[in-house]
Amino acid sequence: MPHPPASLDLELITIGTELLLGFTVDTNSAFIGQTLASVGVRVTRRTSVSDEGAAISAAVAEALARSSLVITVGGLGPTRDDLTKRVIADLFGAPLHFQQDLWDQLVARFARLGRVPAPSNRSQAEVPEGALVLPNARGTAPGLWLSGEPGEVIMLPGVPSEMRGLMETGVLPRLRERTGGRGAVTTRIFRTTAIPESTLAERLEAVEDTLGGLTLGYAPGYEGVDLRLTSWGGTPEGAAEALDRAETQIRAAAGTHCYGTGDADLSAVLLDACKQRGLTVAVAESCTGGLVGQRLTEVPGCSSAFRGGVIAYHNELKTSLLGVPESMLQAHGAVSEPVVRAMVQGAARITGAGVAVSVSGIAGPDGGSEEKPVGTVWFGFLAGDRVEAARIIFPGSRAEIRARAAQYALYGLWRLVEGG
Ligand code: AMP
Ligand code: MG
Repeated sequence: MPHPPASLDLELITIGTELLLGFTVDTNSAFIGQTLASVGVRVTRRTSVSDEGAAISAAVAEALARSSLVITVGGLGPTRDDLTKRVIADLFGAPLHFQQDLWDQLVARFARLGRVPAPSNRSQAEVPEGALVLPNARGTAPGLWLSGEPGEVIMLPGVPSEMRGLMETGVLPRLRERTGGRGAVTTRIFRTTAIPESTLAERLEAVEDTLGGLTLGYAPGYEGVDLRLTSWGGTPEGAAEALDRAETQIRAAAGTHCYGTGDADLSAVLLDACKQRGLTVAVAESCTGGLVGQRLTEVPGCSSAFRGGVIAYHNELKTSLLGVPESMLQAHGAVSEPVVRAMVQGAARITGAGVAVSVSGIAGPDGGSEEKPVGTVWFGFLAGDRVEAARIIFPGSRAEIRARAAQYALYGLWRLVEGG
């Protein structure tokens, strides 16, 4: 990867004994690194320290000796191990002042939850002299931006949702103003599924030759392969144009396997497609045990397209609820084409849905055979009176096979709906 020609550098310090012990994974650094890159700021060094005053103080002083700007995360809570503010105020020789307005907001916040703040919460209304207060809409510890001798420190709370909120509302806009967006590392993600990474790479070979300064990364997961297209530096306008140009080519090469960009979710994409056409969906699940229904019901507003379905794990229920003939189960086994066809027809019949999917497979680790190895999954797809079936053998653990099968069920439904 090229080095981003960032127009502003800073150091990041994450604070918390739990980070060093490994009880908490430092997800905040990942978010901060990514979002800073998107406004042209580069993290030149990352340090993690325990909740000890001396360790925090030394880390901040050392970072400020190398870099004029430092972000700290963590240690802004009301408990005894939250020392960040006090220690950094000391480094700057800035006395802490109690701010009545911050305290009033904190009391009001507690009151909305039917609670009264503890005396220890008072420390969260103390602000180092001269610091800019970054309001925290999600919690009790505001962010603090302190400038002076020996430099500039932005203090953020460690709770990930609070940190993210403060980055988005308080930190990124101000830093973007300084860089003018120049040097931004901008990544656009294309989500693909139901196509192996190597096949996708072959399809994209010609596109990759024309990317110029952009880079294309492949991130395979069990729901599919994410393509990460990145522009390194330049002006925001230039980057957007280059990404747009490449997007057209990438979408053409990936074809129907690309279901969206960014954090697009296939279940939401499918539900949108159903809503546009006035279609309703149902499921009949065996080996996925409700995962397809879960994926669909995770989407807000799903009720306008999702009817529901049946988890028919035991064969008796495949017969009694979905109407799969017992003789068919005996002749072909539950993991078979005739059975998923009968299952999906049963699901459509009892729910009245216009499109439906059925899933029956061997998630493992036991239960495989030579003819039907672990990972074998049959799908039935129904649209109106048309029924199709597909068999896929998925790799991975039980959890991966189930997740991959749920994703494939959504993909098959989506293609069926889109294909008319
Ligand atoms: P603090 O602001 O230090 O009181 O942290 C509050 C919560 O945020 C704790 O549960 C921490 O484990 C969590 N936390 C702190 N730092 C991080 C980090 N770098 N990444 C993810 N979670 C964190
Ligand atoms: Mg902490």
